[in-house]
Amino acid sequence: MKPRIYFDYAATTPVDERVISAMLPYFTNIYGNPSSIHLFGQQAEAALETARDTVARTLNCLPDEVIFTSCGTESDNLAIRGVCLTRQRNYGANHILISPVEHHAVSHTTLQLEEFYGFQVEYLPVDQYGMVHPDDVATRIRQNTALVSVIYANNEIGTVNPISEIGAVCRQKGVPFHTDAVQAAVYLSVDVESLNVDLMSIGAHKFYGPKGVGALYIRKGTEIIPCQTGGGQEYSLRAGTHNVPYIVGLAEAFQLAQKESKERGDRLQKLREKLIHEVLSKIPASKLTGHPTQRMPNHTSFIFENVDGNTLLVLLDSVGFACSSGSACKTGNPEPSSVLMALGIPHSWALGSLRVTLGVNTIPEHIDMLLPALEASISQIRKQRKL
Ligand SMILES: *Cc1c(COP(=O)(O)O)cnc(C)c1O
Repeated sequence: MKPRIYFDYAATTPVDERVISAMLPYFTNIYGNPSSIHLFGQQAEAALETARDTVARTLNCLPDEVIFTSCGTESDNLAIRGVCLTRQRNYGANHILISPVEHHAVSHTTLQLEEFYGFQVEYLPVDQYGMVHPDDVATRIRQNTALVSVIYANNEIGTVNPISEIGAVCRQKGVPFHTDAVQAAVYLSVDVESLNVDLMSIGAHKFYGPKGVGALYIRKGTEIIPCQTGGGQEYSLRAGTHNVPYIVGLAEAFQLAQKESKERGDRLQKLREKLIHEVLSKIPASKLTGHPTQRMPNHTSFIFENVDGNTLLVLLDSVGFACSSGSACKTGNPEPSSVLMALGIPHSWALGSLRVTLGVNTIPEHIDMLLPALEASISQIRKQRKL
């Protein structure tokens, strides 16, 4: 029988059973609207505020610095649009600094601000591993910079940026600093004090919580307007009736992930090292993308010369392995990912990308099974190319 092995934890994770148990009562027993005055509302509000306290404790911030949203993408949108639009109106600040390796939730938001709202977006340089260097941030911040946003851990290539140092530069220059920590939050430190961040996005489904719920940390005193207007929920920064069970689930998953991150990360890092070593030594014309050491402990990503990444994914899937190319690249119109282009990787390599991300259900045998399948698939694709 063919295996069914999941190697795509960077795309999403299964929900932890403990998280489901924590959520269940809030669908049926405690179903009130937290904004209601009556007892049903009060009970839901108590759950909401307990969840906020949990998230705040985990982030090392105050409860009213935590805003619940519908996903990581919405958190990024609120941070960027909310800060940029208000700083443009208040100070005429219309310059945005981001890295060229952001998730589309950030980069497409800033593109829209450029196209429709008169902002100028400047892209920071990155090194061959896709890492941003704090000195480059220092020299590019301007008088009229509205916001700096740099991804914490890259979803595609796993590289971890020096967020604390970049944050220190921004603070010294008096410019708000946002980081997209959606990928990072499952294994890395999320202490907003030591990270020197003013805004930080997280999303529950990347850390064994449910899909469709996220949070944004907003440091007290940060100027920001809501993107979604309506009721006064979330300190009037995010209108809409609270999704109480999902918020409870996010809080539970977040504190569990952070509590267990060291142990889980160490275990996966060993498997990751083995996988990287075996792929690079067994498969000709293969390279690791992203940083060799400053990367997510569960994350591997490769490029293979003269291999179509989509074909590779389909072949691997057909023998039971669920991997990813790392970017949302569409079949039929193979465009190399913008992240790999920013690293200066040539076309003949960039189209052959593969991301294999490990997680809670990964065991050493899975790696042992993947390797021969990967070797066979790649040599099959390369042989067909030559015909
Ligand atoms: C997954 C992801 C997002 C989007 O989060 P959703 O909760 O799926 O909207 C944003 N940024 C990064 C780095 C991600 O990995």
